[in-house]
Amino acid sequence: MDSEATHAHHARTLDRLAEAAVRVGLNLARGQELLITAPLDALPLVRRITEHAYRAGACLVTTFFADDESRLARFLYAPDDSFDRAPEWLAEGIAAAFRGNAARLAITGDNPSLLAAQDPDKVSRASRAQSKANRPSLELITNFAINWTIVASATPAWARTVFPDLPEEEAVERLWSAIFAASRVDGPDPVAAWAQHNATLAARGRALNDADFAALRFRGPGTDLTVGLADGHLWAGGAERAANGIVCNPNLPTEEVFTTPHRLRVDGIVRSTKPLSYQGTLIEEIAVRFEAGRIVEAHAARGEAVLGRVLATDEGAARLGEVALVPHSSPISQSGVLFQNTLFDENAASHIALGQAYTKCLRDTAGQDGASLSERGANTSLIHIDWMIGSGEIDVDAIAKDGAVAPLMRAGEWCVRE
Ligand code: ZN
Ligand code: ZN
Repeated sequence: MDSEATHAHHARTLDRLAEAAVRVGLNLARGQELLITAPLDALPLVRRITEHAYRAGACLVTTFFADDESRLARFLYAPDDSFDRAPEWLAEGIAAAFRGNAARLAITGDNPSLLAAQDPDKVSRASRAQSKANRPSLELITNFAINWTIVASATPAWARTVFPDLPEEEAVERLWSAIFAASRVDGPDPVAAWAQHNATLAARGRALNDADFAALRFRGPGTDLTVGLADGHLWAGGAERAANGIVCNPNLPTEEVFTTPHRLRVDGIVRSTKPLSYQGTLIEEIAVRFEAGRIVEAHAARGEAVLGRVLATDEGAARLGEVALVPHSSPISQSGVLFQNTLFDENAASHIALGQAYTKCLRDTAGQDGASLSERGANTSLIHIDWMIGSGEIDVDAIAKDGAVAPLMRAGEWCVRE
């Protein structure tokens, strides 16, 4: 293709991503407000999404942009007490918007190594203050009070990190292609492609819910981990019905089925199968040991200090809030690209998440308070960090309530195919 044709093709596919974000990701309702957060470099995608949102009947679209250089300026020049502060008034306003039924769209595209050279103490304090301020609005999101979604935009800084050996323009183009393919918008009818993919994930979730297993056991090099599942856990994956009645796709892309582990019933050793990109640091070759749900020993070949700090965030940070199954043949895994972005990397492999559990992944929660959810096994924490433990070398067994063991995945693939 000549460059004019390439540009036209890019514009068309970008528009399909925007349309999929509004129609599949959000399934935006007529008359609904929409709140977008985006990196400044995602402006072209924001404009396409805003147009599709209004054409779908949005009554008001409001976007908050973030700029890397301004963020960095804080770490370079702000007084020390800045790092225990967060704009709580903004977080409260966002929560108020959600309580008023505004939909939420986040565009991810952050530079994974923006804060790599900054004081890790300041980075973790700032992140803690922000997490605390976000707590009310985050709860509305994790409990699916409203329809929400996350999509990606290929920013130059992100592309340079993913493809360090390519000239910037080529790196951005490569990252866009990878995003389009993974988000299933590179075909002629993304909306139909998503309907089919959602049906596959829903069938997988139904089968696991019918089986109602007691635990999963992961085995492979450096891994022998038994993950007990929460009492009355519920598997989810693909489309979700929010409490406002709208069926949305919270992540574009998504390949996982996931549920809530029991915070006290995780035992054994596990090794990460991909680096974890966390606030500018790549944490590599994580190896941890769980006892009665808690990490009692943690090592990493790189980034061990950052990992230690993460685990010390609060009481729930060293326990699991999610377990997710993704086949090794997933398109993101097969692309071989390490995106250094959770939205993509968590969909490349089976994973576990430290920290906060999704109450959405529990049955019959109406009227139950925090204490009774915790009793059933749901973990609480300020953090929720996914890291990858699946690969083509991992076997997963399902353990039934009567102790019977059945193979669920072999060499990273589902034993029962649809
Ligand atoms: Zn997940
Ligand atoms: Zn997660």
